[in-house]
Amino acid sequence: MATFADKIGLIMGVANERSIAWAISQALTAEGAQLAFTHFPSPSSERRVADLVAPLSPKIVLPCDVQKDEDIARVFAEVRDVYGRLDFLVHSIAFAPPPDLRRPYVETSRPGWHLAMDISVYSLVAASRVAAPLMTAGGTILTISYFGGEKVVPGYNVMGVCKAALEHSVRHLAWDLGRQHVRVNALSAGPVRTLSASGIPGFDDLRQHAAAKSPLGRNVEPRELAATALYLLGDMSSGVTGETIHVDCGYSIVGL
Ligand code: NAP
Repeated sequence: MATFADKIGLIMGVANERSIAWAISQALTAEGAQLAFTHFPSPSSERRVADLVAPLSPKIVLPCDVQKDEDIARVFAEVRDVYGRLDFLVHSIAFAPPPDLRRPYVETSRPGWHLAMDISVYSLVAASRVAAPLMTAGGTILTISYFGGEKVVPGYNVMGVCKAALEHSVRHLAWDLGRQHVRVNALSAGPVRTLSASGIPGFDDLRQHAAAKSPLGRNVEPRELAATALYLLGDMSSGVTGETIHVDCGYSIVGL
C-alpha cells in the first residue's frame, strides 16, 4: 500500500515546476497523498499553479498571501469543510526585498527586515496555529531552511537571519504542539535553482562552491529533498520533532 494513502496534506509554496514544494508534491502524490494547494494571490501565480497542479485534480487550490491572517483562516476553513481534517502541512515560502538582499546585512532597511521576517518566518507560526487543530489524528508540519541560517553566507544577508529564526521557531512549535501529537521539522536544503534562488546575489557561484566542497562532490537534486520530506512527513519519523535535517550532499559538515 502507498505510504501516504488516505493522508491529506496542504502545500504552501508551489510557484512553478522548479519549486522545492513541487518536487515534494510529486513525491507525495506518487505515494497516494491527497493534496490541497495555496499560491500567492497574483494572476500570474494563479495561472502557473493552476496549470501545474491540474493533472493532480486537487479539490482545493486557493490564493493565500501569508501576510494576511484572513487569507490563512480562509484556506484552513476550506480544508476543514472539504476534508474534515489535515494530516500534514508543507510550508515552503520565503521572501526578502531584492534591494535588501543586494546590500550588506548592516544596511538592511527596517521595512525590509520586517517584511522578510513576516513572510519567511511568522507565516509558519500563523499557519501552524490554525493547522494543528485540524490534525485530529496527529500530524506533521515541514518547513524548508538553508545553511545560511547557521553560518554567514555572504549575499544571503537578511534571509540568513530569517532562517535562523525559522529553525528556532520549529523548535518552539514542536514544543507547543507535541502533546497534540503534531510534529514540526525543517529540511535544510542545499542550493537548487528556483525562482526565489534567482534573487540571491551570486547564487550560481554559491552552487558551484557547494558542489566543489561537499563530501558528495555535487549539488543536491530536488528528488532527494522530496525523499527526505516524505520521511519527515510520514510515519517513519514518528519519533522526530523540532529537528532540522540537512539534505545538502554533506556541505554543512565541512569546515573549510
Ligand atoms: P520558489 O519556487 O520561488 O518558492 C517560494 C514560494 O514562496 C513561491 O511559491 C512564492 O510565491 C511564495 N511566496 C512568497 N511570498 C509569499 C506570500 N506573501 N504569500 C504566499 N506565498 C508567498 O522557491 P524555492 O526555492 O522552492 O523556495 C521554497 C523554500 O525553500 C523557501 O523557504 C526557500 O528559502 C527555501 N530554500 C530554497 C533553497 C534553494 O536553493 N532554492 C535552499 C534552501 C532553502 P510566488 O512566486 O507565486 O510569488
